[in-house]
Amino acid sequence: MKYTKIKHLSHPHHDLMLIDSPQEPYQCDGCKELGFKQCYQCEDCNFHLHEECAMPDSSAFHRLFRECDFRFYENVPGNRARYCDACGKDVLGFVYQCLHKEARDLHPCCMKLQRTLISDGVKLHLRAKVRSKCLKCGSKEISKGFRGWSYESACGRYCYHVACVKDLVIENWRKGYFDGHYDVNDQIYSNMAIQIKVPNETIVQQSEGSSYRPKKASKYWKTAKLALKLIISAIFGDPISVFAALIESLVSN
Ligand SMILES: [Zn+2]
Ligand SMILES: [Zn+2]
Ligand SMILES: [Zn+2]
Ligand SMILES: [Zn+2]
Ligand SMILES: [Zn+2]
Repeated sequence: MKYTKIKHLSHPHHDLMLIDSPQEPYQCDGCKELGFKQCYQCEDCNFHLHEECAMPDSSAFHRLFRECDFRFYENVPGNRARYCDACGKDVLGFVYQCLHKEARDLHPCCMKLQRTLISDGVKLHLRAKVRSKCLKCGSKEISKGFRGWSYESACGRYCYHVACVKDLVIENWRKGYFDGHYDVNDQIYSNMAIQIKVPNETIVQQSEGSSYRPKKASKYWKTAKLALKLIISAIFGDPISVFAALIESLVSN
């Protein structure tokens, strides 16, 4: 059940209202991550909480970290700098942390990432260990010794780090925003396609005359984009207007 109005201890003096599609991205005052999707808001104070941050579970388990018993905290326990074990980004506020001495941390939104994404015959699974390299960064690791979570297709051909998809969207949004092209602007988003690395095998097929199969490459490309679209929606929620344009430009060419 969804509450349209809540009281939250982190903002005790005003009610927070559920906003379905925020007009602009916001910074969540709970986890401090950028938010694009449904949230609880105090309009007077420009205060926002992701749904996941407004209504956390006091304790939680995650399928990808089976041995861990997580607790929710409004402030990171201890004073050591922490990062999220799913997306690799800093933990600056609300967090799930496990009880192990070498504790794992998860942003509330990362804790709640969908396990499987399905659309138009594409099926992606959230995984901590992947067989394939990420189509965005070309690596299995986000940084040295750290893999983070990825969405990967069963066949292994389509794989993206959660971290890389977050970066991709945030970078492109910032660029658009600071250029004054915040409104629908295909040019910004068509750059995204260039940033995505096509795996070597596909390039080889294109350059060898005899095995040149443009159809195959374009089908691959189409699926790669569809996969990206699915992950963007999983991370950032139902697209607001600016996202709708982004996703359109990704899947239409
Ligand atoms: Zn949040
Ligand atoms: Zn307020
Ligand atoms: Zn643990
Ligand atoms: Zn995270
Ligand atoms: Zn990556």
